Amino acid sequence: MVTGEALRDTGRTLLDFQGVMFGALVIVGTAVLLSQPDALNPVLYAVGAGLIALITLITGIWRNHPTLQRFSVLLPLADLIGIRVTAYAEGATLSGGALLLILPIIWIAYSYGLRAVLAAIALILVTSPAGLLSQYSEELDPDNFTRIVAYPLTLLILAGAAGVSGARIRRKRVQLAAQTVLTAQAVRARDDLIEAVTHELRTPLTSILGNAELVLRTSEPQTVARRAGVILRNAEQMEAILTDLLLARSTGTVLLGLHRADIDLRALIETSLAASRAAADARGVTLDVLASDPLHADVDPGRIRQVLDNMLTNAIKYNRVGGTVVVSETRTVDTVTFAVTDSGCGIAPHERARVFEPYYRTESARRSAQEGSGLGLGISRDIARRHGGDLRLVASSSRGSRFELTLPLALSER
Ligand code: ADP
Repeated sequence: MVTGEALRDTGRTLLDFQGVMFGALVIVGTAVLLSQPDALNPVLYAVGAGLIALITLITGIWRNHPTLQRFSVLLPLADLIGIRVTAYAEGATLSGGALLLILPIIWIAYSYGLRAVLAAIALILVTSPAGLLSQYSEELDPDNFTRIVAYPLTLLILAGAAGVSGARIRRKRVQLAAQTVLTAQAVRARDDLIEAVTHELRTPLTSILGNAELVLRTSEPQTVARRAGVILRNAEQMEAILTDLLLARSTGTVLLGLHRADIDLRALIETSLAASRAAADARGVTLDVLASDPLHADVDPGRIRQVLDNMLTNAIKYNRVGGTVVVSETRTVDTVTFAVTDSGCGIAPHERARVFEPYYRTESARRSAQEGSGLGLGISRDIARRHGGDLRLVASSSRGSRFELTLPLALSER
């Protein structure tokens, strides 16, 4: 598609310059006309000038039309034919017709380079059986310096200059386009990073704020100690995220490193459930856990907690008021799967594959009052996969959705 785009790009330039071309032709054409009124053939002159005027009119009206842009590479050729007919009207004398013809030739050189100039000259010769060549042969008088040397030399120098500047301008435009793409990419990468960081920090920060408020409102030493513990854990999680980001900055990637440890996944789920309970209560959503004994896995606790938080937060956020969220667990020999099933609005079939795309939010989520960036599921699936597991949307209907997180188990659990 690059070639097509490049063709249209050249086309746009040609369309932009057709007006200038027309203006120059009018001036030179009028001068030639006035200097050789006797040579005028009104019909041919009108046909040639009319053709060029028509081309200019069309390009002026439809200059932004893609089809015209694609075919406007034929513009210089059409101009050349128009001029050729006009030049016939003046008897194709070298002083008149040739002067007029010099413009489209420079035009062609500018657009396509010197090789195209040779083609243009060939075209003039072909369309002028009684034209330039015959006149040259008639006038091959060594004294006739203008005809033999000055005119072809001027034409060649002008065409050469036009060809070189055209090539240089095209090269500059390609460089500029590449730079623009890079700048746009850099801006997008920065925005992505800001969104991802905000998203990552928001969950622990919300928990810290909620628990700090509770600490302020209670005087019971046990509650204070428990809440302070939650605050500390979340603050540590934020610190870990910031450390990872600094590391990521030096490697030029936003992928966050894993700090694996042998941890009890059941305890992690309990922590995540405890953090989500306030939000669930606020919407009257019941949280149920159908799970068993401690379960060890070699994972990054902060990251897996982030995935569980994301799954639970979504199951509560996109649930109906008074709905249910059930967390269940199934094991195979070497994996464990946690399923989070909600009784929410569900996800339409055509949107199911897209919920893992960055920034994608379903239509009903966008209509709802629930805030979100559309980044969580993508990041969560990335984290699950980097652990050798996966995060999937396994079922969804108007009665709710079911997301499953699969993780490999620690060797001791197998
Ligand atoms: P966020 O919740 O911040 O918008 P996510 O990446 O976590 O971003 O989710 C992406 C989108 O997937 C959500 O905006 C929502 O449209 C949809 N979604 C996620 N979980 C559920 C769910 N349990 N029920 C219905 N829709 C969901």
